[in-house]
Amino acid sequence: MSRSHDDLPRALRHPIPGVTRRDCLKTTAALAATALASGCGASPSATHSAARTANHRSMDMTYDAIIVGGGPGGLAAALTLGRACREVLLCDAGTPRNAAATHIHNFVTRDGTPPAEFRQIGRAQLAPYTTVEVRDTRVEAIDGEPGAFEVKTAAGLVRARRVVLATGMIDGTIDIPGFAEAWGGSIFQCPYCHGWEVRGRRWGYLTLGLEGIQHGFPAMLRGWSEDVVVFTHAAVDVPAEQAEALSRAGVRIEPRPIAKLVHEKGRMTHVEFTDGSRMALEVLYAHPPQRQVGVVDRLGLELDPMGFVKVDPMTRQTSRAGIYAAGDLTSRAQGAIFAAATGSHAAAMLNHDLSMAALRDTAAP
Ligand SMILES: Cc1cc2nc3c(=O)[nH]c(=O)nc-3n(C[C@H](O)[C@H](O)[C@H](O)COP(=O)(O)OP(=O)(O)OC[C@H]3O[C@@H](n4cnc5c(N)ncnc54)[C@H](O)[C@@H]3O)c2cc1C
Repeated sequence: MSRSHDDLPRALRHPIPGVTRRDCLKTTAALAATALASGCGASPSATHSAARTANHRSMDMTYDAIIVGGGPGGLAAALTLGRACREVLLCDAGTPRNAAATHIHNFVTRDGTPPAEFRQIGRAQLAPYTTVEVRDTRVEAIDGEPGAFEVKTAAGLVRARRVVLATGMIDGTIDIPGFAEAWGGSIFQCPYCHGWEVRGRRWGYLTLGLEGIQHGFPAMLRGWSEDVVVFTHAAVDVPAEQAEALSRAGVRIEPRPIAKLVHEKGRMTHVEFTDGSRMALEVLYAHPPQRQVGVVDRLGLELDPMGFVKVDPMTRQTSRAGIYAAGDLTSRAQGAIFAAATGSHAAAMLNHDLSMAALRDTAAP
């Protein structure tokens, strides 16, 4: 079964009889190392990232895939595609969702790693894959179709045959003084991420709607703390039936409007109500509104009712052919390991798609 020459991963496009893929990759890596050693503009400390410096690439080349976003989703997609010998460009604007957090938890082998270190490790592990390039740049617009996408970045126009969106979500805030300052320090979205360290203390859940209560979020928090208070900030009336259910689960409801969340350098100490009274509280969970980044908005992709990009569950392709999506922008189930898993999934399906395109081209008269 033969593939058309152009649809083979670039690293494998010029097979030499008796030379295996592994030999090809070893040679490519050795050439890159030699080029660096002879002084192609990289300092010795940058040697490990030789493969991903933009200078080595022709401005006219068409990448197999452009990955937009260098969080866990984008890094995992790049790793999978790099291991598939695909030519990949990962563009990252450097604004991760978890920037306010001190550590990432609940990611096996990386539990307790600071977010910046997590990304450094991710990039370092891409370095041996000489067909993967990483640029710190924002993608501003995406146009085109499978095989011929044009991607406008802050650093210029690039072309790719497929696109992976791994842009995360933008978290809004809740308009209560102190909320923005304590976000990530003592106000969290997820107890699996930031729960164990503060287990057993009084926990709050701030909600301005009924959705979280209906989905059992505050009752679940009882697994970590016996003292859970739901703050409704006078914004929502909890129906009697649900209030009783919460009470049976040992969860209190505090309906008074909040004047401010009192904190010291982002660490909450109290909730202060508009009537002047205070309640001690160090840990609060909340789900502020989220929105898609501009470049995703402008693509006009189909979204689900909650505003997440709809993907085919098997292929992770969006409503636009050739554009895949992974990570937070596709789901309310948001966690670094979920993003990484879906990034790897999207990349594998994208690689399969390119391989099938090669078969179709070969079959064409
Ligand atoms: C405060 C806080 C703490 C958290 N703690 C944990 C935790 O302990 N454990 C855990 O598992 N999860 C945690 N999470 C959730 C976790 O951070 C996310 O689920 C995860 O980062 C999602 O990965 P992602 O790759 O989808 O998006 P992100 O990590 O948000 O990465 C998206 C990347 O895309 C880039 N980008 C966006 N638009 C563009 C563009 N136009 N061009 C180029 N690049 C672009 C951004 O700059 C960003 O770097 C936390 C979240 C928050 C808010």
